[in-house]
Amino acid sequence: MSTRHSLFGLVLGGILGLTPMLASAWERGNHANDWTKGATIKVFVDPVPAGAPAGTAAAVTEAIKEWNDAQAKFGGLTLMTTGADKTNSEIHISWGKLADLGAGITEAKKDADPGFTKTTVKVKIPFDGGLNDRGITRILKHELGHAEGLGHSAKSDLMKEDAYTSKPGKAPTVADVNSAAAFTPPTDDDKAGKNNLWGTKEKLSISEDASTVTSSGTNFIYDYNLHALSQPGLTDPVTEFSIAMLPGTGESDFTVTGIPSGWHSQFFSGDIAPGGLLNDTELQAPSLLSFLADSPSHGVQPGQTVNFELTSPFGPGTTRAFTNSPNFDSNEFVKQAPAAPIPEPSIFLLFIFGLAALRTAAWWRQRAAGATTFLPTTWVGIRIPS
Ligand SMILES: [Zn+2]
Repeated sequence: MSTRHSLFGLVLGGILGLTPMLASAWERGNHANDWTKGATIKVFVDPVPAGAPAGTAAAVTEAIKEWNDAQAKFGGLTLMTTGADKTNSEIHISWGKLADLGAGITEAKKDADPGFTKTTVKVKIPFDGGLNDRGITRILKHELGHAEGLGHSAKSDLMKEDAYTSKPGKAPTVADVNSAAAFTPPTDDDKAGKNNLWGTKEKLSISEDASTVTSSGTNFIYDYNLHALSQPGLTDPVTEFSIAMLPGTGESDFTVTGIPSGWHSQFFSGDIAPGGLLNDTELQAPSLLSFLADSPSHGVQPGQTVNFELTSPFGPGTTRAFTNSPNFDSNEFVKQAPAAPIPEPSIFLLFIFGLAALRTAAWWRQRAAGATTFLPTTWVGIRIPS
């Protein structure tokens, strides 16, 4: 790389490195600060319209039960329609025509709702256009995942933007969501997110990660040292370490050069064409590099430390990583990862990127203010040229 290229790479890496903080898997979505841990949330459902498929009301029951069941183990959120009215409800499900809505939509803001006493998260679900009760159920499950705080995740078969699709990388069709195949349950990734955001049970696993980036002259070497804390009550191993990839970084832009025995790595692409039935208000998910233990016995046991290493010609940018465990205890970290240069933009575009990043950063700080704090991590300093 020429000096100029490097500079552009670093500048862009530094600027765009802010954006994945907004949308990493499992991710805080638009509603990640709208609830309290262990809360019960009343859900008001508008009357099912004439012409909706038989089973539409049952679709709501099914979608709610699924998220409630998934969170019961760790004391997360509970959605409840019983006794829900316009004075006590904070989620409002309404119905619309597919031609008007275009997709299932969860409005990005919890705010005033005419006729309601409290602010609500508005979930709008299409009921026509060839959708059957299974299609409506699938859209509801995805949107209620958002209403309860999850964003899109490249790693979640339920919360990715191309969930349920027969053509990965593209949004599902009506036929896809109507499928008679078994429903997709919340994944481990979704449960880790819900537990981190809303769980009330004592953690069985806590991890920390010290990392470094060094240069060999031709390559950057990224070392991640994942440590499971040894404390009373911590009995679970850490079985996953996932790093959100920076924009433009593909699977060929780095090599996994260090991984413990009994672990494997997997790349999940967040590159999904926008649009379609799940084109809601949440941001696109970043691609994800996951390190996964083949079994809990291969996980990082309390007191142990393991090392993962990447080698890349591309210098570091700031991103987010997180862990998971058999009981879905997840920790988050601010990390450095390879930032592959995006095709060189014009100076004008760079200026626009810079402005957008400043606005994004301000928004992120505001949004993160009420979020769970990151555990202390080792920062690998990189000075962004000003
Ligand atoms: Zn979505």
